[in-house]
Amino acid sequence: MEIPGATETAVPTVERVSAHSHIRGLGLDDKLNAREESQGLVGQKTARKSAGIIVKMIQAGAIAGRGILIAGPPASGKTAIAMAISRELGADIPFTSVSGSEFFSHEFNKTESLTQSMRKSIGLRIQEETELVEGEVVEWVVERPTDGTGDKVGRITLKTTDMEAEYDLGAKMIDAMEADKVTPGDVISIDKASGKVTKLGRSWSKTRDYDAQGPGTRLVETPAGELQKRKHVSHTVNLHEIDVINSRAQGFMALFSGATGEINPEVRQSVDKKVAEWREEGRATIVPGVLFIDEAHMLDIECFSFMNRAMEQSTAPIIIMATNRGENTKIRGTDTVSPHGIPADMLDRMNIIITKPYDAADIQKILQLRADAEGIDSIDEDAMDYLVTIGTETSIRYAMQLLTTAHLVARRDNMEEIQEEHFVKCRDLFLDVRRSEEFCDQWEKELIT
Ligand code: ATP
Repeated sequence: MEIPGATETAVPTVERVSAHSHIRGLGLDDKLNAREESQGLVGQKTARKSAGIIVKMIQAGAIAGRGILIAGPPASGKTAIAMAISRELGADIPFTSVSGSEFFSHEFNKTESLTQSMRKSIGLRIQEETELVEGEVVEWVVERPTDGTGDKVGRITLKTTDMEAEYDLGAKMIDAMEADKVTPGDVISIDKASGKVTKLGRSWSKTRDYDAQGPGTRLVETPAGELQKRKHVSHTVNLHEIDVINSRAQGFMALFSGATGEINPEVRQSVDKKVAEWREEGRATIVPGVLFIDEAHMLDIECFSFMNRAMEQSTAPIIIMATNRGENTKIRGTDTVSPHGIPADMLDRMNIIITKPYDAADIQKILQLRADAEGIDSIDEDAMDYLVTIGTETSIRYAMQLLTTAHLVARRDNMEEIQEEHFVKCRDLFLDVRRSEEFCDQWEKELIT
């Protein structure tokens, strides 16, 4: 069995990832209220607050067997909020984004497709093989032989950044710890080879700010009062990657081509067995990621039954579905009508969040965020107003496309600032949905159907 190599983070199979590159978190304050604009998110405050509560539930381990549904009109931030939930949970947790319709490919069956998506969304954090352990002291005990013979021995429980483990202490180590007055809350390192113990400082918990701390990172206040950022070395891969690497039929090159084909169930079984061993030996931890299924109304009844069962598993990823179907409609593959086309028993185990359409002020802020993310420094004020009007009349996505294309056109004209004329030019070059409908109506006869 191969232990997968050193990718820094899981390879996310994220569709439209660049469209959400400005999103770093939910932008909430300590009371979980949404700030007007923070961490790349704007407005949609109720949905963000609800998402914040979900994050807390996930962190408290209270989400098992449940899913999340985000319902709202197109381009109202459903994917953005799902991505922000995943960011809040940690930068190295896998985020897989698929559309409900993708499970119906000719290549392989629905269940295989769903299984692969689930396994892509479960990370495995592998500890680097090292003699040096570093962590926060939870407690340590010394056992002195009562008859005065033999060396004292002890045990220490250390909390590394992703797990808690126990280590044996020898007499020399105990002496060093007693001399340094090591108490719970101190961060120490132990060199297992030489037995050298070093006190690094106190674990700093005054800030839980994600940006400051980050996953796998600990802040330590040194005896000199300095704040040090210490990173724990681990790599995260996802279970699907391990399946592919260990699948003789595929080989690891398949990871690069993306055409991984069907995975033999026996391969998965042996991977699961090995992973269980690594976890027991303290060499790896499971990191449930996020599986985001857009257009959930495209799933059929068999997919829903599969998801129902899968959600019960202890290592299941967090499943977030999204739909823009607001009405009662038929569940695919049946004549049963249900809200959003999602079966009632599935809806019943979901926390449902709704998103609402944006007003012009929010659209302007979102477009400004995109401009910043794409390195667009300067947009004329009237040109921005014009773009916001287009965004309101068509869609935010179309306005974002114009932003990117107009930037290129302005650069070609050697202009620092995007002017209204650049947007007008690009609007003539590229159609929005409504104009493309008009085009089809007009040329229906000439187009191949
Ligand atoms: P669809 O139903 O069509 O899949 P959606 O509701 O998932 O749409 P998104 O893809 O999240 O919509 O949003 C469209 C674009 O607008 C994305 O680039 C997204 O990052 C951005 N966006 C949406 N809402 C916000 C927000 N509140 N703050 C910042 N950016 C946002």
